Amino acid sequence: MENDQSAMNELHWLIDMVQTIDVGLVVLDRNNDIQLWNGFMENHSGVSPNSIKGKNLFETFPKLPADWLKQKMQSVYLLKNRTFISWEQRPYVFEFKNYRPITGRADFMYQNITLLPLASLTGIHHICIIVYDVTDIAVNKLQLKGANEQLELLSQTDGLTQLHNRRHWQECMEHEFERFNRYADIASLVMIDIDNFKQINDKYGHPAGDKVIQHIAHLLKNALRETDCAGRYGGEEFSAVLAKTNATDALQFTERLRTQIEASEVSYKDQKIKVTVSLGINALHSGMGSSSSWLSGADKALYQAKQMGRNKSVIYTDEQE
Ligand code: GH3
Ligand code: MG
Ligand code: MG
Repeated sequence: MENDQSAMNELHWLIDMVQTIDVGLVVLDRNNDIQLWNGFMENHSGVSPNSIKGKNLFETFPKLPADWLKQKMQSVYLLKNRTFISWEQRPYVFEFKNYRPITGRADFMYQNITLLPLASLTGIHHICIIVYDVTDIAVNKLQLKGANEQLELLSQTDGLTQLHNRRHWQECMEHEFERFNRYADIASLVMIDIDNFKQINDKYGHPAGDKVIQHIAHLLKNALRETDCAGRYGGEEFSAVLAKTNATDALQFTERLRTQIEASEVSYKDQKIKVTVSLGINALHSGMGSSSSWLSGADKALYQAKQMGRNKSVIYTDEQE
């Protein structure tokens, strides 16, 4: 008798705790009809246990990912094992609003979910869905990830032009070199240097020079394709790797850019500044030993373009050695 009493007490306590705990608990039968719906679920859905008991989960909440969740539950019945769904796989299963003041920036509650098979004497006929509110953890992690990505981007980007900085461009170029070498693919490297830039600085001042650099970077960026990789190599020098481009096509690209730059002008205060650039091209070919010889070939071609009077594109050949 005393044992019965204490078992009853325990049962009442358990029911109280299930109702009050800050975790969602739902019990479903084989038809996905709701057998238990605790206080957490009531608070966040606005639907009371009395009104929902015996109703079908998916009919009551048509926004639930029904096919996906049914498949998960099927495997829980089959394997008689619990399964876990992280917010990183799927941010939430139940669409609940987020009311937490600290993580107010999230519109919804991020959830971790456990699907637990509930055994009875005749087998497993029920599943318990356990819903954990992990909004604080998720938002922190996402913010940290965002900040890290921002930092990484900053450390790779040149502040004046928003092109890759030299270090990052070099990495990118070496990566392309390895890739194109391995697959015997083609690619061309282009070095660009503004002509007589010292004179522009001297005549119009350093800030005007900066604006010219930005202007050239802008035209270069617009001329490139998504797969090309461009950087600010030095003060007024730029570099680019043109993917899947042979020397002839690269020359077409540089000539288009060169004439476009020649035809354009930069407005600085009341002045109109005109500039030209010289460009050196080196196409990748088998037998090129290293990425640095790819780069230095383009540099030699650029030097020759300067020698030939500037405002020119030159393709590197062995004779330039
Ligand atoms: P060349 O046609 O032979 O290239 O002549 P150049 O006068 O352009 O010679 P060079 O390429 O050696 O000139 C580089 C000059 O660019 C030197 C430096 O004062 C200037 N410069 C380098 N970085 C910057 C920068 O960030 N802003 C500005 N305004 N000027 C820079
Ligand atoms: Mg230079
Ligand atoms: Mg120059």
